[in-house]
Amino acid sequence: MTQLKENLKNNKFLVLVLMAYVGVSIYMPDKFIHSLGNSWYYIKEMLMIMPVILLLTSLITAWVPRKTIENAFGSNSGIKGSVFSFLLGSFSAGPIYAAFPVCKMLLNKGASISNIVIILSTWAVIKIPMLITESKFLGPEFMAVRWILTTIAIFMMGFITAKFVKTKDLPADDIELSSPENSLSLDREYCIGCGVCTKIAPSHFHMVNKKARIMTQVITLAEQASINEAVEKCPAKIIRFHP
Ligand code: SF4
Repeated sequence: MTQLKENLKNNKFLVLVLMAYVGVSIYMPDKFIHSLGNSWYYIKEMLMIMPVILLLTSLITAWVPRKTIENAFGSNSGIKGSVFSFLLGSFSAGPIYAAFPVCKMLLNKGASISNIVIILSTWAVIKIPMLITESKFLGPEFMAVRWILTTIAIFMMGFITAKFVKTKDLPADDIELSSPENSLSLDREYCIGCGVCTKIAPSHFHMVNKKARIMTQVITLAEQASINEAVEKCPAKIIRFHP
């Protein structure tokens, strides 16, 4: 019963959608058939795209060091980071929802908020395949003016969003890994819940929903040895510690 409650709590939006479906099926059966058709179309599209995206993000997570992502997209990457982000969004393919796991992975690896805004916005409104189609239908002049104005707006949005939203404002799963000021971090997404870290350093790790969570960034010199041991013994190799 507790598990069921927990699942419902963790999937509030899905439950809401299912309830809406039930409501529509009772009061508007014709619209229900239509909405089922639409949903099925998007589910099929997602089933074709998302496995590739998730595989790609997993490979990058496993193979690309955090330092590389921080250098390319982190808060100290400057203009270079903005340009990389712009190019990544521009040369992307696929619907915008495919960008979210990519951006989450980049955030987890140390990308800055402003660069994430640039990637998402560029991906959504000025990626190259879209510009080609736009130019075909509305003409190159229209496309070029819109591209210039939208590009200016995207960079401004990245700057403004970073002023208001900090990494620590993101959901807890992200904070633990993406905050550059954190010396201890872990990627909860890949935690297998073995509990080794909580046994080695119980004052710094605890389990929440069967995954480890960091309790504090305050680490004394005497505690560093146990944190290093947890880093070493974590079977998933997802704990990072930079004293
Ligand atoms: S040791 Fe690693 S995999 Fe195991 S619970 Fe801790 S963080 Fe998760």
